Amino acid sequence: MRRIPSHSDVNSRSGTRDGLLSEIAVNADMTAFSASFDSTLKKEGQYPLIAKDVLVLQVNMGRLCNLSCKHCHVEAGPARTELMSEEVIRDCLKAVKTMALPEVDITGGSPELNPHYLWFIKELRQSGCRVKTRTNLTVIVRKEFHWLPEFWAENKVEVVASLPHYLKDTTDKLRGSGSFNASIEAVKRLNRAGYGVPGSGLKLNLVFNPCGAFLPPAQRSIEADFRKELLNRHGISFSSLITITNMPVGRFMTFLRKTGNLERYMEKLIATHNPLAVENVMCKRLISVGWDGALYDCDFNQALGLKCDYGAPDDIKNFDVKALSSRRIVTGWHCFGCTSGAGSSCAGAIT
Ligand code: SF4
Ligand code: SF4
Repeated sequence: MRRIPSHSDVNSRSGTRDGLLSEIAVNADMTAFSASFDSTLKKEGQYPLIAKDVLVLQVNMGRLCNLSCKHCHVEAGPARTELMSEEVIRDCLKAVKTMALPEVDITGGSPELNPHYLWFIKELRQSGCRVKTRTNLTVIVRKEFHWLPEFWAENKVEVVASLPHYLKDTTDKLRGSGSFNASIEAVKRLNRAGYGVPGSGLKLNLVFNPCGAFLPPAQRSIEADFRKELLNRHGISFSSLITITNMPVGRFMTFLRKTGNLERYMEKLIATHNPLAVENVMCKRLISVGWDGALYDCDFNQALGLKCDYGAPDDIKNFDVKALSSRRIVTGWHCFGCTSGAGSSCAGAIT
């Protein structure tokens, strides 16, 4: 019986990408996963997966983070040293300006810890594109970042903030002791700056990830729970809540393997595959840039070391919106995480 490969196995073999993921699904101890993503798409007449446009440049500014969450697909943490350099950021800016990209979605790690973060946002806003920043909230309460909510507000940045749960114990279990209280304090500061306050025009969207090996509940229903509980318990508000399925990648993959839940989780993803979600998977309209400038179809492929392929540009220096808009997307069994249930993306449910 062959063992299920680990995340590091996949990363170390990223040079043999073609067929790697399907090989894992078919040959490893994953016989229950007989339906690979590609063969499922073939049966549905949706193969191969082809991009439709590039409307969002998602920029991963590095893997440094002040937290080390148990479900992190990037395996970010305080000891990570990978940070996007000024040179790569300039290449991103050039791509945004020359290709008139409408939106940049900044992520990490904790992108605020990149020393070029503020300058990057100011340049992006001057170029007229919409800017979203992802934040784990807790970074805002650090003394050196107290002014961040006002900075974001002045620059009309949309804030997408992860908050695993409205219950302290559940959040702290996933993110570390003290993270829940810090997050609540951070949302209070964001509310004071106008974020999540009706009529302010400043969007504060919360992100919910399941705290275990299960799929997220219906987005609207968990949003209603969060709204009620956060208001009643802490007097805080937000614009909307998005749900994201935990992908079997990175630290969450390690958790699934360690707890013996990997097969069950994959079976669940496959059993709940929703053909209608395929049309809206985020890679169809987004391109992801890694800290070193490499281009990926999405942040999950980035975590797996699977660069853009099939003749598409794979480095920000060769960014070509026309070629990328109709590229063939690199897929694997992890893609079931995007098509299960209501579907999942960095912007939440997709059906
Ligand atoms: S999930 Fe987010 S906050 Fe947690 S370690 Fe990963 S990048 Fe940091
Ligand atoms: S994991 Fe990435 S490549 Fe696969 S369907 Fe989701 S967004 Fe697309």
